[in-house]
Amino acid sequence: MKSPREYGLPEKYERWRPVQVAALDMLSRRSKRTTGICAPTGSGKSGIVIAHAIESGKPTCIVTATKGLQDQYLLDGKDAGMVDIRGRANYKCNMRPDDPEWTCEDGFASGCPYKGSVNCDCSQAEIAAASSNLVVTNYSKWYNSKKFGLGWDHIQQVVFDEGDEAPAALADAMQVFLYHREIERDLELDFPGPPENQSFAIWKAWSYVAKAKAEEATNIAKARITGVANPKPSWVKHFNHMKNLMRRLAILVTACPEDWVVDEKPEGWQFDPVRPARYAEGALLFRTPNIILVSATLRPKTMNMLGMSKDHFEFKEFDSDFDPARCPIYYVPTMRVDSRAENLDMLWMRIDQVVAKRQDRKGLIDTVSYARRDAITSTSRFAHRMIINERGEPTVEALTQYREAGPGAILVSPVFGRGYDFPKKDCEWIIMCKIPFEPPSKIVKAREALDREYRSYQAMQKMVQTFGRGMRSKDDKCECMIFDDHMQWFLPRYGHLAPKSFHRIFKQVDILPQPPERLM
Ligand code: SF4
Repeated sequence: MKSPREYGLPEKYERWRPVQVAALDMLSRRSKRTTGICAPTGSGKSGIVIAHAIESGKPTCIVTATKGLQDQYLLDGKDAGMVDIRGRANYKCNMRPDDPEWTCEDGFASGCPYKGSVNCDCSQAEIAAASSNLVVTNYSKWYNSKKFGLGWDHIQQVVFDEGDEAPAALADAMQVFLYHREIERDLELDFPGPPENQSFAIWKAWSYVAKAKAEEATNIAKARITGVANPKPSWVKHFNHMKNLMRRLAILVTACPEDWVVDEKPEGWQFDPVRPARYAEGALLFRTPNIILVSATLRPKTMNMLGMSKDHFEFKEFDSDFDPARCPIYYVPTMRVDSRAENLDMLWMRIDQVVAKRQDRKGLIDTVSYARRDAITSTSRFAHRMIINERGEPTVEALTQYREAGPGAILVSPVFGRGYDFPKKDCEWIIMCKIPFEPPSKIVKAREALDREYRSYQAMQKMVQTFGRGMRSKDDKCECMIFDDHMQWFLPRYGHLAPKSFHRIFKQVDILPQPPERLM
């Protein structure tokens, strides 16, 4: 077996670890189209994926859930020849160097004369991706490039990193949102009124008319920027917007009314397929012959949610080699935390007890909702140490403030449970205020009516992911806690939706344990 360095992996991959050897062996003998690997945090998943992609000889695209993860992959894979590609809106266009807002997306729409030349980052990235054997991208670029045929036909293998998010990415790709402004102002069209607007069949008929209007608006917008030396940026943005609106309406035109749910939101109307799995091939998998999903929380159910039956995939789970004493998850019976609880004082008291004994270290409270975030900050004795992000605002500022803060700082938010890592002293304890069930929106209820595990799967994934944010390597340390008494039925009933590594570190205790020694 070649060493990690012989695959071009960086120094941190000094030698293969047992989990990596076993996973690479399994991948080399895979016999089905789809393989799922549940590999715990710290097992060096990127090394496994990159070495397998090279060893298999198949042109491979690695699809990540966030641009941050894409960056991390690129750091590990660039010496192995990996190329990175993102949506055009991420590349600044040299055609208008003075306009910081002008991206390749705008330049492309206004008839870029340099398409395909090597004179700009975007073209270079697209050319490289179209011929490379090792590409890293994100879900949205993967979806758009495959769907609209941007020269990715050579890809024979796709790896969905953080594969537990693939069902949500598929559902997002199929979701259509129509805003009041773009329909009522731009297309000068009314939405169907009540009570008809509760029926998807009415919306489907309406969408034919709306799509024709959007097509007309797109053609007018295009004519306004075609052949013009320097079209106004707002004209170009309007053209891109209308083109995008036309694509969204085209989804509704072809949708099957009995399989979709329509829901009114303050900004417009949202449309979702009840069974996104029906669209998996056309919106996510694209007939790619080899599919691999990798994640620390992957379950066989994840593959079922992509429309794959158990005969059509292989699944292997690897155990964590972290010391359970360094990353326990405690459930301390306290109270049922849900909308029926009129008074959450017991919960707030318990949280303050935890914080009181851990003022010498940093921690994270996942509040699951902004309402609960506000309740904590208005009742806790330690509110002065709490760092929050404003709802709807970028998270960067709160995150930077927290990372730069000294011992005792507490990040209190419902949004840091995924996609952010808090290694070592960045976070030595995590509290989840409750089991993070999705609010029962119309679409959530419709999906749950077909699949009684739907909401529990989402909640379990979020809970396990959140508790994994503070324990990133063997020499890290992080205590996790939950005080929601719904755990008493949730875990016995839905424990199979959590990886084995979760059960190994989960403990119910009557009294909150003393904090361990802090990391030095
Ligand atoms: S390809 Fe054209 S539109 Fe895109 S960044 Fe380059 S010059 Fe601009």
